[in-house]
Amino acid sequence: QPEIDFGNIQLQDVSFAYEDDDPILQNLSLDFYKGEITGIIGKSGSGKSTLLKLLMRFYDPHCGVIQINERELSKINTSSMRHMFAYVTQETVLFHDTIENNIRIAKLDASLQEIQEACKKASLHDWIMTLPEGYQTPISELGSSLSGGEKQRMALARAFLSQAECILLDEPTSNLDVLNEGIILKALQNEKERTIILVSHRESTMKIVKRVIHMDQGRVS
Ligand code: ATP
Ligand code: MG
Repeated sequence: QPEIDFGNIQLQDVSFAYEDDDPILQNLSLDFYKGEITGIIGKSGSGKSTLLKLLMRFYDPHCGVIQINERELSKINTSSMRHMFAYVTQETVLFHDTIENNIRIAKLDASLQEIQEACKKASLHDWIMTLPEGYQTPISELGSSLSGGEKQRMALARAFLSQAECILLDEPTSNLDVLNEGIILKALQNEKERTIILVSHRESTMKIVKRVIHMDQGRVS
């Protein structure tokens, strides 16, 4: 399969259900434009996370098609997919290694300086510098003292470091205070080259988006 260039993402009449359950997404047609920040908002259970999971191809739609740059998503090879998308959720997986190496997995040849830049965008750098071993601190030494917000910011630092053309963010600031959220939203706004899809409950998060999609029971309302 040839590599493809990233472009607009288009959903055409997409429906999806988990197992034999009721449909979770129903005849969804919408576009995400290259280089834009789009927000997705909607009640709990309306299908926001499910939509991102379909974009990541954890599941395929049962009906309809998802296309990137007019190529069907299901026909794009997985290594191209991995380069195109960075996906941040509330479940961050960390490895038994240093903070530096935990961020570096997003770009293996990154310099320490690039890693620090990414951590600044994720509002994590100042906290790392308070640790006795700084970027060399083993995650295992922090263990359970690592807060939900710190883990979330590590995931964001990975996304900033990655060269993914599209960043999918599922409630990326849910565990963060207003100050940290503000720094991160500003950094996201400065990612002019990237396509960003931002799912959030919070209206405050939506101030940086160009367009808001309201989801209600698996449909765009
Ligand atoms: P929230 O704001 O609470 O994160 P959401 O809009 O992200 O909600 P989804 O997580 O997409 O909602 O879930 C939509 C519906 O699909 C819910 O009714 C949920 O219970 C159901 N669902 C989600 N994941 C699964 C799964 N793996 N198997 C079966 N049903 C699921
Ligand atoms: Mg969700």
